[in-house]
Amino acid sequence: MFSKLKKLLVWRHGVQFLFAMITVYIGIEFIIFVNQLTSQSPAPFSRPAGVEAFLPLSALVGLRAWLATGVFDSIHPAGLIIFLAAITVSWLLKRSFCSWICPVGTLSEGLGKIGRMIWGRNFKIPAWLDIILRSLKYLLLTVFLLAIFFGMSGSDAVNFLQSPYNKMSDVIMLEFMEHLSVTGISVFSILALLSLLFENFWCRYLCPYGALLGLFSFLSPLKITRNQNTCIQCGQCTKSCPNRIDVAKADRVWSPECTGCLNCVQKCPVQNTLTFKAPKNLPKLSYRALAFGIVGIWFLWIAIAKLTGHWSNGMTLENYKQLLFFI
Ligand code: SF4
Ligand code: SF4
Repeated sequence: MFSKLKKLLVWRHGVQFLFAMITVYIGIEFIIFVNQLTSQSPAPFSRPAGVEAFLPLSALVGLRAWLATGVFDSIHPAGLIIFLAAITVSWLLKRSFCSWICPVGTLSEGLGKIGRMIWGRNFKIPAWLDIILRSLKYLLLTVFLLAIFFGMSGSDAVNFLQSPYNKMSDVIMLEFMEHLSVTGISVFSILALLSLLFENFWCRYLCPYGALLGLFSFLSPLKITRNQNTCIQCGQCTKSCPNRIDVAKADRVWSPECTGCLNCVQKCPVQNTLTFKAPKNLPKLSYRALAFGIVGIWFLWIAIAKLTGHWSNGMTLENYKQLLFFI
C-alpha cells in the first residue's frame, strides 16, 4: 500500500515530470525547426505548435480578437488553446496548473528544494513585505488586461495577430534566449537566486499568468477542506504550505494562492481530516483522480483543437523564411 507521500510523489511529481519532458522535447524540435530557416537542408522537422505555450500575451490578444470578431486566432491557435486549457483547469481544479503542469513552476519548486539542501531551509519574507510583493503580480496582470482589453480595439488586436512581429514572436523568443544579453543573464540569475532563497518566489510574487489563474480558481468547486471535528490543531498543514496559507484555521481554502499541490493533505496526520473536495457530502478527489483530471482536461483541449483545425497555424517553412528579415 502506498503511503500518502509516495502517492504525492508518484502522481504530482509524475505529472510535473511528464510536462517537463514534453517541454524539453518541444524545445529541441523548435530549435531544429528554426535552424532550418537559415540552412538549405530539407525540412525533416515541422514546427511544434506547443511552443506557443510560451506566448501568453499573444494568446491574450488572440482572446481579445476572438471575443471582438468571433474569429479564432490562426497565427498562434495552439497558444490560445493552451491558455483556455489552463483557465479550465483552474476553474475546475483550483490553480493546479501552477503546481502540476507549468514547467516554470516546476523549476521554481526545484530551486526552492535545492535552496533547502544548501541552507537547511528556505527563508521567509516578513508578512508586511510579503503582502506588498504579492500585489506585484496583480499589478502586472492589471496592466496587461487594461492594455489589451481597453487599450486595443478588436481590429487593433487582429492587426497585431497578423503582424510580422507576432508571426515571428516564437522565433524572436528563441533568439533572445540563445543570445542572452548581460542584462538578461543578470535578471535570470537574480530570479534564480531569489528562488533558491525564497520558496516559489516567481510564482508567488511576479507571475501575472498565475495571478489570472488564481482569480479563476475562486470559482473552483473543489477546494482544500478541513474537518473541524477531527482536526487536532497540530499546525502541520500550515507549516507545509509553500504558499503560506493558514490551512489550520480555514474550513475551506478559498485563497487564490492555493495551487492544489496537496502538500497539506499529505502532511496531515489524521486520516480524512484534510481533503480536496467539493462542498457538502460530495466525494473527495484522490491524488490519482486529480492527476487524471488535470491531464485529461489538458489533452482533451488539444484533441478538440486538432480535430477542429485549431492547433497548427498552417504557416510553411517558406512563409517563415520570408519573414526572417524581421528578426
Ligand atoms: S499546501 Fe494545501 S493550501 Fe497550500 S497550496 Fe498546497 S494544496 Fe493549497
Ligand atoms: S494538519 Fe490536519 S490535524 Fe493538523 S491542523 Fe492541519 S488539518 Fe488539523
